[in-house]
Amino acid sequence: MEYLIRSASHPTVDEVYSNLQPEIPTLSKTTVYNVMDIFVNARLVRVFNLGDNENRYDADIDSHGHFKCNRCGHVYDFRFNIDHLYVQGLDGFKVSVKNVYYRGICSKCISGDSITIICGGDSDGQSGRD
Ligand SMILES: [Zn+2]
Ligand SMILES: [Zn+2]
Repeated sequence: MEYLIRSASHPTVDEVYSNLQPEIPTLSKTTVYNVMDIFVNARLVRVFNLGDNENRYDADIDSHGHFKCNRCGHVYDFRFNIDHLYVQGLDGFKVSVKNVYYRGICSKCISGDSITIICGGDSDGQSGRD
């Protein structure tokens, strides 16, 4: 199942379930949730949410940002130096989770499209490269 999380790129429980169900007909969604919980607790995967009310699972537990394309729905990883991120107003706070999440239109969708899209914040199409 860990392999699946790696290959599927940030799957939701539903996606993991529908991928495995043909191979393991006895599988239930509850089982998938339970196994994911075990992975998360063992820090093999991390869980995050991109504002679509569905938890996604990521086998890459290093700090990285996520970009979700509004059009194709694909979630891209991008790298940045989180220690150099300038944050104000959290002096004395203990941060346990850092999530960076961009939304917009990916470069693939933009190149198949002649309309200029303005997305909130940075529309740099290069961010999604891995
Ligand atoms: Zn796209
Ligand atoms: Zn990721």
